Amino acid sequence: MQQILKNTAERASRYLESLETRSVFPTSDALNRLAALDTPMPDHPESPEKTLAALDEYASPATVGMAGSRYFGFVIGGSLPAALAANWLAGAWDQNAGLYVASPAASILEDVAGRWLLDVLGLPEDAGVGFVTGATMANFTGLAAARHKVLADQGWNVEADGMFGAPPITIIVGDEVHISLLKALSLLGFGSQRVTRVPVDSQGRMRADAFPEITGPTIVCLQAGNVNTGASDPLADLIPRAHAAGAWVHVDGAFGLWANAAPDRMALVQGIAGADSWATDGHKWLNVPYDSGLVFVRDPEMLRAAMNYNAAYLVRSESRDPFQYTPELSRRARGIEIWAAMRSLGRSGIADLVERCCRHAARFAEGLSAAGCRILNDVDLNQVLVSFGDAETTRQVIAAVQQEGTCWAGGTVWQGHTAMRISVSSWATTAEDVEQSLEAIINIANSITHP
Ligand SMILES: *Cc1c(COP(=O)(O)O)cnc(C)c1O
Repeated sequence: MQQILKNTAERASRYLESLETRSVFPTSDALNRLAALDTPMPDHPESPEKTLAALDEYASPATVGMAGSRYFGFVIGGSLPAALAANWLAGAWDQNAGLYVASPAASILEDVAGRWLLDVLGLPEDAGVGFVTGATMANFTGLAAARHKVLADQGWNVEADGMFGAPPITIIVGDEVHISLLKALSLLGFGSQRVTRVPVDSQGRMRADAFPEITGPTIVCLQAGNVNTGASDPLADLIPRAHAAGAWVHVDGAFGLWANAAPDRMALVQGIAGADSWATDGHKWLNVPYDSGLVFVRDPEMLRAAMNYNAAYLVRSESRDPFQYTPELSRRARGIEIWAAMRSLGRSGIADLVERCCRHAARFAEGLSAAGCRILNDVDLNQVLVSFGDAETTRQVIAAVQQEGTCWAGGTVWQGHTAMRISVSSWATTAEDVEQSLEAIINIANSITHP
């Protein structure tokens, strides 16, 4: 065991070093070589060393350099050193984080990490916290708590009686709602199309003047951090309005919630702490390894009621039983690397990580704009949308940038305009990485627009 773990640690550090000079997206040659792993099911055992050697030789070069410092695709965080190492140690521990009696350490670390998260994110200190796979499941879990409360208020027990014949609930979302929230609504039996959509402004924020009058049982789904622009709904205005009408307010803050951890950015999400439930990711801006999502519910009883299990062998303890806060029973102890990330960064380190990414995004916008490219969004957070001309030209530049390999950014269509989307979400990105990437992007854009 010792030999293979040491050996793997060496392979992993070599891999991470290789990302400095390697093409961010794997070459087609590296992708072709993956075929070496696609063998018939082996009949006989092989030594673990040989298995790992094959994985490293063929799969490492075929990975996308998301853990490196010049990956700006989607909204994808890196892995902090303490978080990655804690993830390895936790793998060695192999704890089942479902029950306190199964793993007191996992349960206590989640308890502590949960408290720290509420503190650093500025949320109510006694909210319930669940450690799930990502913001999709965090949205699902928060909305399950919402569904429980809103239907219980109508005298309906949704966990026992389901949705057939249940009193109708109005669901309000913004026109720029994230697809994962619609998926969560469909999984919960609300239907992804049976929603009231609120028109948005040029940044994708719900227009407060177009917010509907709320009547009857209602769940309002707001957003902090649009995947394209980074903009947040007018939370300070809409949350009190929804509450005055008796609605539950859920906030999808997959990355935007982290603005509240950075003093110079928190104005962007002002009022966010007034909601009833919040979904966010650990694997985006907190930079822990995949997969890691977090749900917070102001009234922990509503979360427990929605996630309840009953079985004689599930011995309840006085301490936190993590399964009471998530859809899963058995699962890995995700709180461990969250705890490690937060301890290693501290409050100032978390604020600095968020702030640094935002400043890098602003520099991208400034550099591209100075080179004659058009920035399509207000770059207040970590997202930059840039157009290089018409749709076809922009698509060509994106493809060429991805092919060239200095950095990687994806494409999107923002309110009818084709754009490259640059998301700065990793602790590893330095000012030098931004300059190097700017130079590569601008050279490529010039070669395409002025051949
Ligand atoms: C990324 C994202 C999600 C989905 O998160 P996953 O971790 O991929 O499940 C949901 N909402 C928003 C706003 C996001 O940016």
